[in-house]
Amino acid sequence: MNLILFGAPGAGKGTQAENLWKRFGIPHIATGDILRKAIEEGTALGKEVAPYLEAGKLAPDVLVSDLVLDRLKAEDCRGGFVLDGYPRTLPQMDVLEEALREKGKKIDKVISLDVSQEVLLQRTMGRGRADDNLETVKRRLIDYKNLTEQAKKGYASRGLLVVIDGLGTTEEVFERILASLPQNS
Ligand code: AMP
Repeated sequence: MNLILFGAPGAGKGTQAENLWKRFGIPHIATGDILRKAIEEGTALGKEVAPYLEAGKLAPDVLVSDLVLDRLKAEDCRGGFVLDGYPRTLPQMDVLEEALREKGKKIDKVISLDVSQEVLLQRTMGRGRADDNLETVKRRLIDYKNLTEQAKKGYASRGLLVVIDGLGTTEEVFERILASLPQNS
């Protein structure tokens, strides 16, 4: 099962991806986590993307797409994957689709976790991540609205998008996600 999780920063994508991994054994591929690790380790990629993350801006499409496509080649992705934080723009969406098509694969479902802006700000302010100050969170929410919503619409027009209410306990939200997945998964 090949899944994409959409949701603004603080919507609970990471937690639900973890739940999906526990239930289905499909790896959680979070571009934000991979980029933060690269920065921590001081790799060439890390040095290149650091200014973007610090400013709360999206990193260049090509860099992020390359790292995701590379990750998807790994053995553990053969039975499926959960993408968290990618694709975030229309070019990223196109690159992903083309790469999957070449392998005879496709996205099975795109799950959007929807939470009000008020709750998002509360949640992100509470988790203490380096790029979680008010200014960058707001900047990321603006990018989310402008760019990511376009990708979301693209998936909606193909009938792949399900919108899940992200308010409630993690168990409640997970039950909603499970109910939205293809029957034979
Ligand atoms: P996240 O943890 O998903 O909120 O991502 C943290 C930061 O990593 C974002 O604010 C961007 O700077 C960068 N990032 C993560 N995923 C992407 C992506 N798909 N495209 C561009 N930048 C990304």
